[in-house]
Amino acid sequence: MNPIHHVAYLSMEMAIDARIPTYAGGLGVLAGDMLRSCADLAVPVVAVTLLWRAGYFEQRLDESGAQTEEPTSWEPESLLTSLPARVQVQIEGRTVNVRVFQHEIAGASGYTVPVLFLDTDLAENSPEDRRLTDALYGGDAKHRLAQEIVLGLGGVRALRACGFDRVTRFHLNEGHAALAALELYRESSSGNPDEALHRVRERCVFTTHTPVPAGHDRFEWELVAKVLGEPIPPDLFTALAGRERMNMTLLASNLSHFVNGVARRHREVSEHMFPGRDIRHITNGVHSPTWTSPSFRALFDRHIPEWRDDPSMLRKVLVLPPQEVLEAHAVAKQALLEMVRDRTARNFEPRRLTIGFARRATSYKRLDLVFHDLERLRAVGRGQLQLVFAGKAHPNDVEGKALIGRVFAAARELGDDVPTVYLADYDMDLAKTLVAGVDVWLNTPLPPLEASGTSGMKAAHNGVPSLSILDGWWLEGCVEGLTGWSIGHGDGSDTDAGSLYEQLEHAVLPAFRSERWTSIMQHTIALNASFFNTHRMVQQYVANAYLD
Ligand SMILES: *Cc1c(COP(=O)(O)O)cnc(C)c1O
Repeated sequence: MNPIHHVAYLSMEMAIDARIPTYAGGLGVLAGDMLRSCADLAVPVVAVTLLWRAGYFEQRLDESGAQTEEPTSWEPESLLTSLPARVQVQIEGRTVNVRVFQHEIAGASGYTVPVLFLDTDLAENSPEDRRLTDALYGGDAKHRLAQEIVLGLGGVRALRACGFDRVTRFHLNEGHAALAALELYRESSSGNPDEALHRVRERCVFTTHTPVPAGHDRFEWELVAKVLGEPIPPDLFTALAGRERMNMTLLASNLSHFVNGVARRHREVSEHMFPGRDIRHITNGVHSPTWTSPSFRALFDRHIPEWRDDPSMLRKVLVLPPQEVLEAHAVAKQALLEMVRDRTARNFEPRRLTIGFARRATSYKRLDLVFHDLERLRAVGRGQLQLVFAGKAHPNDVEGKALIGRVFAAARELGDDVPTVYLADYDMDLAKTLVAGVDVWLNTPLPPLEASGTSGMKAAHNGVPSLSILDGWWLEGCVEGLTGWSIGHGDGSDTDAGSLYEQLEHAVLPAFRSERWTSIMQHTIALNASFFNTHRMVQQYVANAYLD
């Protein structure tokens, strides 16, 4: 029996598992975690994304930290099911054929969420069009717009062609999916245009992930006319998407009845960008069983078996035997230190405070903030600290690549005083080992650019407290001294590095050497894993956005 699917979730990237490399970072991991929770909770969702045959890329780093990219390869044919459906979209006046592969995400009690992967690599398409679903985030604006046509227009048509015809809500995950709303308008535009718009808005939900206007996807109208044509009257189009350029965030928000940011602070920032718009927030989460390491899973299963259906039960971690919590962490830490030894030939010491930092290498994430004053870092951390880094820079992100080089240079400079390694090719599997195996998770974004951030939530599931700038989710998650520590005042001033060293020296290291540490680990899980999970997040989407 084909269950009834009420919600279609469209996202340019989706992290299903490490063998399906159709994601670049946080946006895709969030989408995957959301769908895993939908499967566990039997929320009737069907997801749509692009196939990305070449994935994102494999990262190679030379001894100075210079990044080169190798294409990834995977075999969609062996991991996904090919469906008979074919749909077409028009791009620059050409007909582009789209085929559909399906994957099923199985939930804890057997309910499955279908994921449709759209693919243009068909012999009947031109060579240029065949490459549209090749590499994630490659190519110029025209290529990008064409990909958004495949996702948006192709996505709605694929849902129809595959028989998902009871969908009443379309969830646009970031502006990339906005053209889906235009397709819905086209479908219902036979009568009165105002009524058609109303019907589209009723059905669409939009989640924005980008806190600055410069981060929004925008296309020159001339390019839009050439590539997309004129799907709706030009006056209406510019009224919805902006005069100067087609702004995908604006288009999506103008065609949705529910618009949300991904953390409380992100809602406030978004309201400033769209004055007069009612914007809500649903704070991100992570899928608890996915991001909890085997040793903590076993610990939770023994004492709190309900945690898998209901991660809010992780509150009870507060009364677990502290020794068992320490042992679970020791297992995860050993796995990480072994990986460090295998990959870098460096011997990290188990007794040192091990700090982890891993995320996309891009300038606002400030990978090098902790190295601002190497003498100070050395004075605070000599013999006490060791650092593990990971993260890919986008192939065109010159600054992001330079940041990786600066981490390598600092690591050389610090030598064995504060051993520092950079692990190549950050992906979901490496993330799992890292977030569980370090003692403290570091995050130093330039506020307010971290819309939410999620890796600190993964760490929290493993009893790893965060040391982080007050931005994104951390404004909600930081209970000073209990779930971690704040850096600075959330204004991104140049005293942030000083504040980081202060906290390390006077709060984090003394706590690590004290009896209090186990209690900090337990509070981190009990207060933060119990809330910052996608089970809670999905329930909020259902109650506030889907049933609204
Ligand atoms: C969780 C995750 C991210 C996102 O981390 P942020 O803290 O939100 O930046 C990026 N890449 C991978 C592989 C991840 O697992």
